[in-house]
Amino acid sequence: MTKVLVTGGAGYIGSHVVDMLINRGYTVVVFDNLYTGHVEAVHKDATFIKGDLLDKPAVDQVFADHQFDGILHFASHTLVGESMEKPWLYLRDNAVAASNLLEAAAAGGVKRFILSSTANLFDDPAVIPIVAEERIVPGSPYGESKYIIERYLHWMERIYGMAYCCLRYFNASGAHPDGHIGEDHTPEYHLIPIILQVALGQREKLTIFGEDYDTPDGTCIRDYIHVMDLAEAHVLAFEALADGKSRKFNLGNGKGYSIREVLETARVITGETIPAVTGARRPGDPATLIADSTRITNELGWRPEFASLHQIIETAWNWHKSHPNGYTSK
Ligand code: UDP
Repeated sequence: MTKVLVTGGAGYIGSHVVDMLINRGYTVVVFDNLYTGHVEAVHKDATFIKGDLLDKPAVDQVFADHQFDGILHFASHTLVGESMEKPWLYLRDNAVAASNLLEAAAAGGVKRFILSSTANLFDDPAVIPIVAEERIVPGSPYGESKYIIERYLHWMERIYGMAYCCLRYFNASGAHPDGHIGEDHTPEYHLIPIILQVALGQREKLTIFGEDYDTPDGTCIRDYIHVMDLAEAHVLAFEALADGKSRKFNLGNGKGYSIREVLETARVITGETIPAVTGARRPGDPATLIADSTRITNELGWRPEFASLHQIIETAWNWHKSHPNGYTSK
């Protein structure tokens, strides 16, 4: 059986990938410090280790105890805004965590590595939708930290023959269709869960960060990609790496939706009014971010299955309704 290490497997995207890997017959070890993750999100058939990648002896112990066929690396600080206020959490901690992991992985002979990367590498795209070949201009210390790790991987491949795949996600969203796992951040910063918290009466209103952008309705356009489609891409990419060839893919729906469109769709799905007011722009927000995922479609046959905004918000709503307080809900 193929045995993989999933760092950050208790987090939002990681837990959906772990669930899929287990259901496809993989043996999974999750390593997570539970800084933002939830142990309840981890599939019961995965081996869970609570630990921090900054703790090198703890990382080395995992590799002393297990022989892995590959690694999927999610564990990271992930907030663009926070990274502008606390850059060293990103420029140092994300990078040191990855270097501890990669040093141990290379010593342990691991030959396949999947990196959870980001659209924040593309702060100045020449063309939208953004193609995989686009020039890299990190938009924040968060994006920079992922780029540093992408560069580490370049050298891991050259020196140790470790094949890698960088998956650069756009806006991960939605929840498992059966509603047993979903998005649970405290505090919450992302648009769809915030809208659904307003629908549940947990927040008074949505503040739309700027309605004066150069877009048809003046609000920012984003490419929302369902977390199950992201999970499928990870499994496909992991299987593909068996040929020893490294890859980099952009992952999105290829369709953009404005904040107003997301809000209107959520109003229809929830049947709630969801009050909204216009606020100031959020620093660092580009007007439009849309992915061109042609490369992964052509190379791996990946296609989003939950491509409509309706499906995305419906699965998220299903999770939020059944878990109004996230994983602490009874
Ligand atoms: N947004 C908003 N109000 C909120 C949260 C987010 O208007 O309370 C906007 C945000 O400015 C961006 C879009 O919604 O234009 C998506 O934001 P999110 O934080 O979900 O993802 P990001 O685009 O930062 O990856």
